[in-house]
Amino acid sequence: MNKRLIHKQAMKRGAAAALLGSLLVLASGCGAGGDNANGSGNATNSSNAAGGNGATGGGAADAGKIRIVAAENFYGEVAEAVGGAYVDVTSLLTSPDADPHDYEPTPDASKAVDEASVVIFNGIGYDEWAQKLIDASGKAADKTVIRVASDVMARKDGDNEHVWYNPDTMGKYADYLADRLGRLDPDHKTDYANQASDYKQSLAPLTEAVASLKQAEPLPVAVSEPVFDYMAQALNLRITDDKFKMAAEEETDPAPQDIARLQDEIKGKEIAFFVNNVQATSPTVQNLVDLAGQSGVPVVEVTETLPAGKDYVAWMTDILSQVQAALD
Ligand SMILES: [Zn+2]
Repeated sequence: MNKRLIHKQAMKRGAAAALLGSLLVLASGCGAGGDNANGSGNATNSSNAAGGNGATGGGAADAGKIRIVAAENFYGEVAEAVGGAYVDVTSLLTSPDADPHDYEPTPDASKAVDEASVVIFNGIGYDEWAQKLIDASGKAADKTVIRVASDVMARKDGDNEHVWYNPDTMGKYADYLADRLGRLDPDHKTDYANQASDYKQSLAPLTEAVASLKQAEPLPVAVSEPVFDYMAQALNLRITDDKFKMAAEEETDPAPQDIARLQDEIKGKEIAFFVNNVQATSPTVQNLVDLAGQSGVPVVEVTETLPAGKDYVAWMTDILSQVQAALD
């Protein structure tokens, strides 16, 4: 499920697809389910063979470092913080223009996964291509695989995939990763735990912003699509347009009555603000954004993945600053 209409503007990488062949035919969209839950914990340390650039061109890994590949760069950022000097992290999705829903792996990505000891991805259908790269490597049993949505956050296929918008996720993932790295590299177990602790402290601005913006009573808002849902829950926001939102998620056109209802809510200022995923837009959504502008309803702009030049905390706190402004 969860085929996405609105993500179709994402970059297509036809040349890479041709090179990788039929593997990549399976890689588009939001996945057809089939995520292998609970597959983590294959904590066998492979040899960390040096050589081979990561997909981001970050240079050859130092011998002896644990090679980590993260499908999304927001997960890679945490891996760098928790692993510190003992890991070499390659993030596959680094462009804010590329949508993980539609990403098609390059040969470099395939090579990086093949050579990695630890592979981190979201799971529950969001980035099923990562599992396919692991399977295709022929070394799946030698890799520690962390699926953040299922292994860390106990989400399952069919749940909202965008767990990094849950302000609790990165702290839990940091601890989980420290535990896994400690098993792979017991000599530095304490370092990993300490580095995870430091990382969690760096989340304080996010935690504080969420606490200060959390509504005492559910506050109605509307969303262009479901990327923001876990943050909305954390802030006690009530999403009024579930049907409109899910139509986008399921790659169907929203029903005319659902669009009309949302237009009425905007015109009547029945919602506190409208959340627009600017990385995944459509003419219908743009019309609603225009209507919000005309009606004096604030629009909070969010993105699917890390914007250029921001880390996770800056990204999330910038979004929450927009929420603050919308509520003032
Ligand atoms: Zn999405």
